[in-house]
Amino acid sequence: MSKRILFLFSDTGGGHRAATNAIIEALQSAYPGQFDTEMVDFLRYYSPSPWRYSPEIYPPLSKLKGAWKLSYEAANGPRRSEAANRLAYPYLRASAERLIAENPADLIVSIHPLANAVIPRAMRANPVPFVTVVTDMVSTHAFWYSLAADLIITPTTQARNRGIRLGIAPSKIRVIGQPVSPAFAALTEPKERLRAELGWKEDLPVVLLVGGGDGMGPVRRVAKAINAAQLPITLAVICGRNEELYRHVERLDWQIPHHIYGFTDQMPRFMKAADIFVTKAGPGSISEAFICGLPIVMYACLPGQEEGNVDYVLDGQAGLWAPEVGRVVDAVRLLAEDSAVRADMAAASAALARPDAAHDIAQVLASMLDQDSDQ
Ligand code: UDP
Repeated sequence: MSKRILFLFSDTGGGHRAATNAIIEALQSAYPGQFDTEMVDFLRYYSPSPWRYSPEIYPPLSKLKGAWKLSYEAANGPRRSEAANRLAYPYLRASAERLIAENPADLIVSIHPLANAVIPRAMRANPVPFVTVVTDMVSTHAFWYSLAADLIITPTTQARNRGIRLGIAPSKIRVIGQPVSPAFAALTEPKERLRAELGWKEDLPVVLLVGGGDGMGPVRRVAKAINAAQLPITLAVICGRNEELYRHVERLDWQIPHHIYGFTDQMPRFMKAADIFVTKAGPGSISEAFICGLPIVMYACLPGQEEGNVDYVLDGQAGLWAPEVGRVVDAVRLLAEDSAVRADMAAASAALARPDAAHDIAQVLASMLDQDSDQ
């Protein structure tokens, strides 16, 4: 009988789902038919109020920078996180036990910081191996690291060191990389052909503007400013699940070639066809940009959570930090007009890529379940 792996994620943004899908895709391609996999949005379906509304609360809360920082930092330390978990457990216990009872598994993988304390505790009577895959890059929250986890997989050495500082045994943390869909590395169609398929002009650099899965941050203002500056580019804007943003961007008085999209499952095509990536500092988007060798202009980051991502990109010389709309325009102008700077930054971005991370994580999970594999 196939062994069962339960993946716990939540649609707070697009990154946790994308990372989970990436690992499942890699498992299915390397070990066809060997594992039953299941993804559960544990916050939405197995948490009491207000936790169950997290996917809805995430976009508006992230706009309130002060409130976000406060709630992020409130439990971001070894003692504070433990105290918060202890306080919350009585409220979360019944839902967590129902989750485990209704979704029996041989291995549980958490791809979300809020699952790591409560789930191992709730399965005390009947424990199965519990693995956490950290999907924040550097400034990782204490909630990612549970002493009860059998293994914690991190995208960077910085995230590993943070776990060690929080008391996790070094032998329990492995640096593998951010799991990104194998489709990014697999797409080898030439850029010209991808552009022709997308109907993008071939004689101008293409700037791809994205605000994560939920179209977050000042995407509309950035699009408006780039348009007003009449930069010599084609602008492709991906609004994600933010329909209001889509309507606003569509209605701009467009002066430059442009293309506007809602949520797409074709990110690899868009990114491989583009020349410059303008984004909030989301870990998924950044890691995908590395694989596509794209220079990254970051216009915003979530306080605390994504600040380290900005440093990571800047230290690697793979992009520019432009936290005001005017600075985004300047950064895009520089990269659009100076192809040598653009090429250097693209090469630096590609040097940070870990295209095999999802595959390597799949291999670790498979080996924990002791399955035969030809990998
Ligand atoms: N994404 C997507 N389609 C879209 C917009 C975004 O598949 O239309 C994906 C994107 O490729 C990335 C994820 O959503 O994998 C966003 O993750 P990130 O960590 O950058 O930000 P989050 O949305 O989690 O804050």
